[in-house]
Amino acid sequence: MVSAADVRRADVVIAGEQIAAVGTGVGTPDDEVLDATGCLVIPGAVDVHTHMDMEVGVTRSADDFLSGTVAAACGGTTTVIDFATAYRGESAAHGLAIWHAKARGRAVVDYGFHMTVTELTGDADDLVAEMAEAGVTSFKLYMTYPDRLMVPDEVILELMRAAGEHGAMVSLHCEDDATVASLRSEALSAGRTEPRWHAWSRPPSAETEAVKRAVRMAEETGAPLYIVHLSSAGALEQVRLARERGVGVFAETCPQYLYLSAERYEDISERAARFVCAPPLRDPWHQEELWEGLRSGALQVVATDHCPFTAADKKSGLTGGGWGDFTQIPGGLPGIETRLALVYQKVAEGVLSAPQWVDRCCTTPAKLFGLHPRKGTLEPGSDADVVVFDPGARRPLIPERLHMKIGYSPYEDVVVEGWPAHVFSRGRLVARAGEAVDAPGWGTWLRRGPSGSMADP
Ligand SMILES: [Zn+2]
Repeated sequence: MVSAADVRRADVVIAGEQIAAVGTGVGTPDDEVLDATGCLVIPGAVDVHTHMDMEVGVTRSADDFLSGTVAAACGGTTTVIDFATAYRGESAAHGLAIWHAKARGRAVVDYGFHMTVTELTGDADDLVAEMAEAGVTSFKLYMTYPDRLMVPDEVILELMRAAGEHGAMVSLHCEDDATVASLRSEALSAGRTEPRWHAWSRPPSAETEAVKRAVRMAEETGAPLYIVHLSSAGALEQVRLARERGVGVFAETCPQYLYLSAERYEDISERAARFVCAPPLRDPWHQEELWEGLRSGALQVVATDHCPFTAADKKSGLTGGGWGDFTQIPGGLPGIETRLALVYQKVAEGVLSAPQWVDRCCTTPAKLFGLHPRKGTLEPGSDADVVVFDPGARRPLIPERLHMKIGYSPYEDVVVEGWPAHVFSRGRLVARAGEAVDAPGWGTWLRRGPSGSMADP
């Protein structure tokens, strides 16, 4: 059994939907026994960054709450937190209601919501209180995409302050929009329309600059800050320095930044488009720094930013008639099914310890977003979300073996060592050897406690 703290030999007793006992000599002769000899028994993984069933231009992300959570379960993830979104002119309550309707009765594993805010029309304290009452204790704001998502720094500051005072946390997409806008128009006016120019127009310096600003705002307000999908070494350095100064800054990275690099944009445009995401994939040397960040704890979480589009949708673009330039390619990569095994590869290689793997993929995400100790740990009273991970199982990450509804895999040349053999969600088997056990609607919505602290509330 692997926890965020240690590895030990133990039995886990499940009674109903919860863990009843953990240790040696627990359980009774009448218990049904699953022999996990040779396997690693870990808490179900927690993915705090997914975009299911989200409208983007004329298309939508390819996985809905059924297919997306089936894929999650098959890969050992038993909790997801998705981004409910209040678009401009809509109330947060409205956005939340829409996302509840998308998920209800469909999800296979438990799920919660963050609230994405694209404008602030009323009082920030009221908004934070209203959402906390509705079980949502984290907010997402964008520092780019001015046409539909970005908010000015005053709004970030205002919401950060209010969140900090009420046990909530702001998470930020950090790319400096002024940098991006000017490089983008430079590329486009020179007729540089291929996917590689997408990456060129969103350089690491734009991320570093935005993270610096975000850290300054966290310092000024004294509120916790969570940086989503951190992709580059300079941005990580800003987080590390801030944390050393005692600023409450947390950051996640994603498998695509750990395993894929900007070379993908040199492929023919149609294939390169599949790797368009923001921030973009970086030069390979950033990966070493991100792994080191995960090892040292400067980076606390691996989440996926699962935002899958089919190859056909990537090709037809945001307007449906084919993309004329890189700004019209739906941005996002799939990843909800492959995260746990991909990160495990570095345990097999000796770069991360098994407890660090559990901590970054399961325990810390649950703690930061108000789900611990119900999720992210195997303790008496916790939900019986249990993964029996077989380190000897080899699995090629080809689309035929995966369940995300996209028809391709960004990792099709990768064969991982280790895959979940059994996955339980609240005591119910939801996946076996990477295949789903029929359980639509088993997943329940999670009302979350305070966010933004590593300590339990
Ligand atoms: Zn995202």
